[in-house]
Amino acid sequence: MCGIVGIVGDKPVARRLLDSLKRLEYRGYDSAGIATIYQGTVARRRATGKLVNLDDVLRNQPLDGNIGIGHTRWATHGAPTEENAHPHFSNKVAVVHNGIIENFRDLRASLEDEGYIFESQTDTEVIVHLCMKYLSEGKTPLEAAKNTLEHLEGAFALCLIFQDHDGLMIIARKGSPLALGYGDGEMYVGSDAIALSPFTNRVTYLEEGDYAVVTHNGADIFTEQHEPVQRRVGIIPAANMMVDKGEYRHFMAKEIHEQPGVVGYTLGHYTGQGGQVATQKEIDFSKIDSLSIIACGTASYAGHVAKYWFEKLARLPTESDIASEFRYREPPMQKNSASLFISQSGETADTLAALRYCKSQNIQILSIVNAAQSSIARESDILLQTMAGPEIGVASTKAFTCQLMVLVCLAIMAARQRNHITVSPEQEYIQQLLEVPRL
Ligand code: GLU
Repeated sequence: MCGIVGIVGDKPVARRLLDSLKRLEYRGYDSAGIATIYQGTVARRRATGKLVNLDDVLRNQPLDGNIGIGHTRWATHGAPTEENAHPHFSNKVAVVHNGIIENFRDLRASLEDEGYIFESQTDTEVIVHLCMKYLSEGKTPLEAAKNTLEHLEGAFALCLIFQDHDGLMIIARKGSPLALGYGDGEMYVGSDAIALSPFTNRVTYLEEGDYAVVTHNGADIFTEQHEPVQRRVGIIPAANMMVDKGEYRHFMAKEIHEQPGVVGYTLGHYTGQGGQVATQKEIDFSKIDSLSIIACGTASYAGHVAKYWFEKLARLPTESDIASEFRYREPPMQKNSASLFISQSGETADTLAALRYCKSQNIQILSIVNAAQSSIARESDILLQTMAGPEIGVASTKAFTCQLMVLVCLAIMAARQRNHITVSPEQEYIQQLLEVPRL
């Protein structure tokens, strides 16, 4: 859940990278760092703890350069120390990375056999040495990056810069989100649109397996099969970029107080004329014999609650599972079942993996997601969006209550479609639900 930012710019980037990292602080992190290229040389600054520490380092030892990458790390491999903080660097290449390289042990062992010296305990460092290995064979940065990506297993988003190439950044995503921002004569990269909000609202999300060559003037995007591809550039609404605490001391306090508004908005979105539940895309629960609700963390608590509703109101056999268990268990799926995934961000790695498993079993995929641009939203047959707005607080509040609202609406709809309630009790339920924001 850490953060990545990158700028291929036409003016100095270090301070701007730091400002952008501050917008990703809500994700939690244990250390941070920035690398830039100036006059053909990569330089980096890193610090453990909060971004103020990195800020101090940068004030004492400023970084020049119009291209750079920044990172807030949430350690998965190696302690949260300065030497493990990103960017990692090897001779000519620097990288920031989100996620986990699952096969890093094997890669590290063979690189060490070839004489590469590792400075950190991270899984990430294999990326720069692999890249370096291909560069020293005479390959171009793009070829070296492509060869490197072919070796990496796991879920990651990454951003590479190369000494002697101060107008070039290569980025890739597999399992972790990465957004590209379009500016005027500048390009930006971020692990979400909020990181890009100080710079631009014109944003493209890389799709699974995509990689891109980013320069000042734009980006060439390629699929995992190395086919050039165009991805839609969307305008991110200002409301989705807002990371303002308003009058509150904490985002969490603000988000708790936003609940009446967003719960009402969400209910409004799922209530049609005549006081019945309505979804934009038709769902037919009468054709379903069982339902699997799959989620992680707080979203899975919403799922546990909803199991009661689906079973009691709609008489629909329902299982509620934690995605991290489900995905490794690979349970047999019944033919006429549907699966329902719940995630605020729509990027929860275990939930996404479970979704893909269900897809491989030809099961209908419904999802309740807050971030409509996310991987889970895109890969679902039917998306049911919670209208909670961006949730910055790590402990979920308004997203959770909005998830419950969508779930109860679906359970009521299922009850009607399965002939367990008729129109008038449905209207009564809806009437009561519409009282919730006021209460
Ligand atoms: N696995 C990497 C590390 O431990 C990246 C972790 C992250 O996503 O912050 O350094």
